[in-house]
Amino acid sequence: MADRKFSCVDCITKNCDMGGRTYPAFCVSKGMDPALIEESKEAYMADPTDELIMKVAASVEHDFYCRYTRLEDTIEFCKRMGAKKIGIATCVGLIGESKILARVLVHHGFEVFGISCKAGEVDKVEMGVHGCEETGCHLCNPILQAKRLAQEGTDINIVMGLCVGHDSLFYRHSVAPCTTLVAKDRVLGHNTVAALQMVDGYYHDKLFGKQSDSEKE
Ligand code: SF4
Repeated sequence: MADRKFSCVDCITKNCDMGGRTYPAFCVSKGMDPALIEESKEAYMADPTDELIMKVAASVEHDFYCRYTRLEDTIEFCKRMGAKKIGIATCVGLIGESKILARVLVHHGFEVFGISCKAGEVDKVEMGVHGCEETGCHLCNPILQAKRLAQEGTDINIVMGLCVGHDSLFYRHSVAPCTTLVAKDRVLGHNTVAALQMVDGYYHDKLFGKQSDSEKE
């Protein structure tokens, strides 16, 4: 395996979180260019929306830490952002869950507009996508989802299970700030972190290849 640069993903002290411990020799925080930190601080203050999101996100985290589910956090975030109209960018396979989300949001006083990834019914082959017909003839169209939600004037867009990569395109093209409620995982019932939590158990061979008997011991 090639040498790689150590970073936060190699840290065991996490001293940047609360302090009171030691920093590792490779600490990303301690080695940071102070000008870059200043640049990030100025960026929050240069854009009123970025400043508001930064403050609201911190307050929701603080006020409901370990008490609110992500759904409740999302509702509270939208309320504190002053949002009136919420866009739902949904995978066509999660319309049932998106329907329930819409019901909850309407109950909390929001206007809702949802759009499925297949809306617009653009043909995959016409767009140069070949050999993928088994998963449907229509293209998942996150750029259209973003454009249609912008047309509706949504204040915040919630992502509901867009595929990997389709979500990247949606984030790139959404005019309103985005937050993700469901990260799609067709195998794990959208509990994406389970694959990581199983990595030293049943999922090891799947992710790293077969272990020899000596490696297992
Ligand atoms: S910033 Fe430093 S202390 Fe914090 S996680 Fe990264 S390496 Fe660890």
